[in-house]
Amino acid sequence: MCRCFVVPLFHLHRVRVLDMEGALTARDRVGIQDFVLLDAHTSETAFLDNLKKRFSEDLIYTYIGTLLVSVNPYKELDIYSKKQMDIYMGVNFFELPPHIFALADNAYHTMLAEANNHFILISGESGAGKTEASKKILQYYAVSCPSTTLLDNVRDRMLLSNPVLEAFGNSKTLKNDNSSRFGKYMDIQFDIQGDAVGGHILGYLLEKSRVVHQNHRERNFHIFYQLVKGGEEDLLHQLGLESNCQHYSYLVQGECANVASINDKNDWKTVRNALFCDDIHSIAYWVIASVLHLGNVQFEPDSKGYATLNNSTLHNNTIPFTVDHAIYARDALAKAIYGRTFTWLVNKINDSMENKDSSCKTVIGLLDIYGFEVFYVNSFEQFCINYCNEKLQQLFIQLTLKSEQEEYEAENIGWEPVQFFNNKIICDLVEEKHRGIISVLDEECLRPGEATDLTFLERLEEKLDSHPHFVTHKLADKKTRKTLERGDFRLLHYAGEVTYCVVGFLSKNNDLLYRNIKDVSLQVSTHVLCETRKGLFNWFLNYLLSCRLIVASQFKSSLLGLTDILMSKEPWYVRCLKSNESQQPGQFDDVLVRHQVKYLGLMEHLRVRRAGFAYRCRYDVFLQRYKPLCPATWPYWRGVAAEGVEVLVQHLGYLPDEYKMGRTKIFIRHPRTLFATEDAFEVC
Ligand code: ADP
Ligand code: MG
Repeated sequence: MCRCFVVPLFHLHRVRVLDMEGALTARDRVGIQDFVLLDAHTSETAFLDNLKKRFSEDLIYTYIGTLLVSVNPYKELDIYSKKQMDIYMGVNFFELPPHIFALADNAYHTMLAEANNHFILISGESGAGKTEASKKILQYYAVSCPSTTLLDNVRDRMLLSNPVLEAFGNSKTLKNDNSSRFGKYMDIQFDIQGDAVGGHILGYLLEKSRVVHQNHRERNFHIFYQLVKGGEEDLLHQLGLESNCQHYSYLVQGECANVASINDKNDWKTVRNALFCDDIHSIAYWVIASVLHLGNVQFEPDSKGYATLNNSTLHNNTIPFTVDHAIYARDALAKAIYGRTFTWLVNKINDSMENKDSSCKTVIGLLDIYGFEVFYVNSFEQFCINYCNEKLQQLFIQLTLKSEQEEYEAENIGWEPVQFFNNKIICDLVEEKHRGIISVLDEECLRPGEATDLTFLERLEEKLDSHPHFVTHKLADKKTRKTLERGDFRLLHYAGEVTYCVVGFLSKNNDLLYRNIKDVSLQVSTHVLCETRKGLFNWFLNYLLSCRLIVASQFKSSLLGLTDILMSKEPWYVRCLKSNESQQPGQFDDVLVRHQVKYLGLMEHLRVRRAGFAYRCRYDVFLQRYKPLCPATWPYWRGVAAEGVEVLVQHLGYLPDEYKMGRTKIFIRHPRTLFATEDAFEVC
């Protein structure tokens, strides 16, 4: 617990070593390696200056205590080699420059030493480098942990799960050519010797709408293009597919089937080899082909205006829908098939990485999850994602305070309440039973035919009228005096205000499939398949049709489940920042980075970390460093270290309110006190 707040004296030490090398003082040149060491009332501007200074020196990592801030360099840096891994292995967190390996290594060694579970939460907006960070951590464990031949197999599976999940869950977006469209939590399981012996993945909220609709310059999920472009002739023939993306309406909407940075043909080979069993192969291809065929099913109005299938080779049921309804239902089915297949695939990957014997003792969880999203128009998806971030912020607050409190108790220091904004009120606003936004949404979804997106908004207004973090058109004047459109509501999130447009909330939440279109469409898709694996497909069809979801409440319960998982573990945090929108190396866009610092709540993090006592240090370490500053402790202090420290700080003139003496450590309230001591040390 206490490691979160160990005094990073070594930073200062490093800085001094560098000082002697350069004409500029190193602190000026490379900035400060830990934000906790910046002035007590650090402004956002000072925070950004420090990041920028470091970024210009290719120093992309900076700490806030043990939290790692990472700025995407958009260029390969020579800092991830095996040699670098070796340098960071088993070294104290603060002894080397900040690095993702330092964090991975410390989590690992703390886990071994304390025999407890940990997790590393990686967050940031799309393109900020979360997935790359999680891969680096996984590689670090795969390379640096002890290994046996038997375990290499599991380890390979863990590493191979990445290309498979990326093929099915990632796509090219405007922000990132390889953007993950789902949240991922992966447990890496270790045995008592520290061998990685298994893994388990949970997936969150796949962006299924992408299967049927892509914005301009964006693509569908990678796997579609990989199969169509790279699939072997026989396979494509069996599936009734053409090897041309232009043939499929679900692949051409964004008008960018080809992306310069992506080699779909090569990726296909990697993914095909990584898909590890025949059943998975068959089903994966079947699903992709089905969805592509489904997308090409067109409808025409009959004499009464009802939709009919226009493809004469298929059994032609009349469906009592308008053409628009039929298209909607077709797309809903395509999304459902794909979404559920993704869940199924995750389960299969889990089976393959499962730790078959019970030797697994502890885990490190890796959470690669979307950060706060604020667009020009924010919809149901942003609502879910931002709710997720509220929950994670709440978790951070609870865990940090918990660890603070535990350390205070362990050190016999009286607990002092800390000042910061607790966002529980916003979590409740979203998730509370009966009056929370999700409850209201679910209730409205149970009134088909009567409820609309606007009645949903009205119900929210009735129930949440007096809530300080909820604003609508009607309430806007009263609360914030800012204008708001009629169909919008605004939430005052911990990271700032976000305005949501209610259009589509009900239909997106209600993952309903129309039975008629389902039967017809599945007939369409099985039509193109060979007969040989019918049993498997029938089983899979039943699996697909058996699920019904209410999206938001399902997301809520999976998040609550995740929170439970995380609450029982020790936290580590990586916050990824995007340096610029154009994915260019070396560019640092001040406005963009400032925006992320705000929405990732980094200043809030710094405040929580500094609340109470900003620094603490073991007595022996503190004394060893600063003993030259006092005649009574120099060159030796022969008594108990704690007494030596007391004599030393009295001599330095520390005021009673500036520090406290714990059982094993001195606690210092403000950075300036430590800096003054450090400055005195430099001149002595
Ligand atoms: P996110 O998962 O946050 O959306 P990614 O991890 O996919 O973002 O990163 C987007 C792109 O940024 C990567 O494909 C890579 O080109 C670049 N990138 C991210 N992290 C690094 C890094 N540490 N070093 C170099 N390039 C990086
Ligand atoms: Mg990602």
